[in-house]
Amino acid sequence: MNKTKISVRNLSRSFAGPNGSRIEALHNVSFEVADAFSPDGRNLGEFSVLLGPSGCGKSTLLRMIAGLDHPDTGEILVDGKPVGGPGRDRGMVFQKYTSFPWLTVADNIAYGPRINGVSAAESGPLVAHLIEAVGLDGFEKSYPDTLSGGMQQRVAIARTLANHPQVILMDEPFGALDAQTRGDMQQLLLRVWEETASTILFVTHDVDEAIFLADRIFILSARPGTIVEDIPVPFGRPRAPDIRQAEQFHEMQHHVLACLRRAPGTGQVRVSI
Ligand code: ADP
Repeated sequence: MNKTKISVRNLSRSFAGPNGSRIEALHNVSFEVADAFSPDGRNLGEFSVLLGPSGCGKSTLLRMIAGLDHPDTGEILVDGKPVGGPGRDRGMVFQKYTSFPWLTVADNIAYGPRINGVSAAESGPLVAHLIEAVGLDGFEKSYPDTLSGGMQQRVAIARTLANHPQVILMDEPFGALDAQTRGDMQQLLLRVWEETASTILFVTHDVDEAIFLADRIFILSARPGTIVEDIPVPFGRPRAPDIRQAEQFHEMQHHVLACLRRAPGTGQVRVSI
């Protein structure tokens, strides 16, 4: 039986706007992400995508689940416990590369274990494994700003995985990458996710990316963002890139786009087909 991993209930958040006005970013958002998705008996966290137009409150929602911001009303539970702030059970990957520029690739990945009291000798095998898993062999001693955007995002993913978070929150992590690198990174992410069994909540405004990655897609309306659809994605795992050519994939694209168009105020969603 699947257990609820993340539960977001009746959550609203507004910000101070110009001339004393309020900008309502999110309105009464509720959804749940399951703990285990195991069609073949394997224990695997669910891969959920929050899809919606720019400015609909996706980042705000993710930041609140990470404990970096707080709702005005409503609540967020992870494993049944209210989120009061950041915690080691949740890791976050941002669009902007967030590695420490003064540390090498290996030291960036070892950083989380180190501040949690794990010695370099103890974390060495894990760091080596993660470097291999994200395809950075040979770059252990490189500094992040000497690497391409895709490679820097590989470092960020490995850094997050090194803390063994149960939940990984990803805020448009491939948004700044070119199409080819983005496709490569999507495959890489699915590969490492299937190994880690973490629950992933991934934010994007790209329909193709959402369908390729997700077990389920939550569609947000334009601001104030609210969940307007919860769409299960029927493709199995592992997922090969050529599913994008399948008739069923195109049908999903049309279905997801139709849902986005039905959502109030949307229409500026970028699609890559
Ligand atoms: P998305 O990630 O979907 O693009 P965001 O969550 O970044 O959307 O922003 C949603 C809305 O909330 C936007 O109108 C944005 O300007 C506003 N907003 C977000 N954070 C703040 C803040 N700290 N102060 C004021 N307004 C904010």
